[in-house]
Amino acid sequence: MSCPNCKKSGLVEITLNIATRPVTMRNCSSCDSRWWQSEGESLRLPGVLALASRR
Ligand SMILES: [Zn+2]
Repeated sequence: MSCPNCKKSGLVEITLNIATRPVTMRNCSSCDSRWWQSEGESLRLPGVLALASRR
């Protein structure tokens, strides 16, 4: 998979469990953009924070 922003490969992928949902964070080391995905849907950062605070 390559970065949708700068088209380079070399993404760092980290999966976390937030509020029992697996959330994958991808970070591009070239342009430093970052995005989140959970169960096949894209999340914006506010959505991730909302999940994280729902305990
Ligand atoms: Zn990039």
